[in-house]
Amino acid sequence: MTVQTEQVALTNWSKSASSTCFVYKVNDVAGIHAALAAARAQGLSVIPHGAGHSYTDAALNTGGVVMDLTPMHRILSWDAQHGVMCVEPGVTLQKMIQVAAQAGWWPVVSPSTPQVTVGGCVAMNVNGRNAWKCGPFGAAVLSLDVLLPSDELRTLSPAQDSQLFHAFVGSLGLLGITTSITVQLQHMASGHVSVRRRSAAALDGIFAIFAEEENNSDFMEAWLDGFARGSQLGRGHVTSAALSPSAEPRPSAFSTHNRIERLEGSIVTLLAGLSRPALFPGVHMANRLNYWWGRRPRAQQSHLRGLVPYTFWPSAAFSGYHAMFPQGVETFQAFVPLPAAPFIFKEVLRYSQKHDSIPLWCIIKRHRRDQFLLSYQLDGFSLELNYARTPQTAQHLQQVLQHMIATVIEAGGKFYLAKDHYLTAPQYRQSIGEQSLETFLQLKRQFDPENRLQSDLYRRLFQPALL
Ligand SMILES: Cc1cc2nc3c(=O)[nH]c(=O)nc-3n(C[C@H](O)[C@H](O)[C@H](O)COP(=O)(O)OP(=O)(O)OC[C@H]3O[C@@H](n4cnc5c(N)ncnc54)[C@H](O)[C@@H]3O)c2cc1C
Repeated sequence: MTVQTEQVALTNWSKSASSTCFVYKVNDVAGIHAALAAARAQGLSVIPHGAGHSYTDAALNTGGVVMDLTPMHRILSWDAQHGVMCVEPGVTLQKMIQVAAQAGWWPVVSPSTPQVTVGGCVAMNVNGRNAWKCGPFGAAVLSLDVLLPSDELRTLSPAQDSQLFHAFVGSLGLLGITTSITVQLQHMASGHVSVRRRSAAALDGIFAIFAEEENNSDFMEAWLDGFARGSQLGRGHVTSAALSPSAEPRPSAFSTHNRIERLEGSIVTLLAGLSRPALFPGVHMANRLNYWWGRRPRAQQSHLRGLVPYTFWPSAAFSGYHAMFPQGVETFQAFVPLPAAPFIFKEVLRYSQKHDSIPLWCIIKRHRRDQFLLSYQLDGFSLELNYARTPQTAQHLQQVLQHMIATVIEAGGKFYLAKDHYLTAPQYRQSIGEQSLETFLQLKRQFDPENRLQSDLYRRLFQPALL
């Protein structure tokens, strides 16, 4: 068998990186073996690929093979009594929820889109709005079946082959290919959350609200007005939510009104396209309105929301996103330890504004340290800033973000490789820690001596360290 000879131009989700690769679709474990063998025979490197929803070069492999695992989308077993599900790696969170929610179960950790695959969530060790409470996705993984590049199949769990388990979760597809995942889901009494929003006139107020809410909430996230300056720098709202114990009927997991969704998507795309020429003033106004609208006493009252609309972006928002930002979006997400976070977040916001790079939307989340080898989480907060990308501003924006990355790393901060695009190999080494990186590279040499598994991200951040 040979690797498909046709090269395909792949772009990441935020359109900030693209590459020409050979795409190889696999349907089962035998297909993964065959893909690895074919790549080996042709001297090509390979990287697994889920839904391609990373914002970076993590699932791209210029000139090499991209192994598309989305056809492996079967639910292998489901224990509705104990909330334990075993899936192939290409199963999406949406599919998992569609089955599990009927019986009152929900993933412990969800990113804000349900389109991602479970294999992608494990390989990135994704985080949600409950990261400080429940840790990353890997914390709810009971076991993994993995195929190592040596063609050896292993089962890993926190108790069995624990070192490799904690290295494999979050290993960005570079140690082996996950062929099945067994996950513990959490029970939900009602499928609703009780949501409360509180406003703060500046960044210190945001941190004060996080501190007050963290013991009584299951989820927390802050939105900031990235345009606000001076004494109003970092003004915004903190939204906290608690799983509702009341016995309202469970909402259906996802809308089944596909035609309505498509219509909504088309309207949002049209509006987004029309508003593109006035993007910057329009978003400035929207940030202001959102801040003042959210300060109304009514907006600050608790209310119930279904878990699906609370957790995930509506599908129409995806259509709008790509219509609004045809050249893509640059994201900066810095994780900073608790004592330094308020000061560093102010520094980067001020620096960004001073250099005419205004983030269009900004998010803060609370995190905690975890035991995974390449963990990007720490006891502190993350600040996510999102910028429109244009050919005219791309180079300047890159310089601004690189300065901000250096500031964060000096403060002991880290970056999340699903969203960071500009980190360099020395910066990654400094941020993740010498010891963690060396242990990872040693495991890579042990389990992938031919260096078969590579991505563009690997060559940017890891390979220079091997030299
Ligand atoms: C709108 C949006 C919102 C998001 N919100 C969040 C959020 O709130 N929190 C968060 O943490 N992330 C968030 N993300 C990022 C996203 O959750 C991660 O990038 C996730 O990994 C994407 O999954 P995927 O299936 O698309 O994987 P891909 O992007 O295709 O791949 C991601 C990595 O997983 C590896 N991989 C995939 N499958 C396998 C496998 N079977 N075995 C080994 N390695 C594999 C790939 O090689 C790659 O390194 C968001 C992304 C989008 C687009």
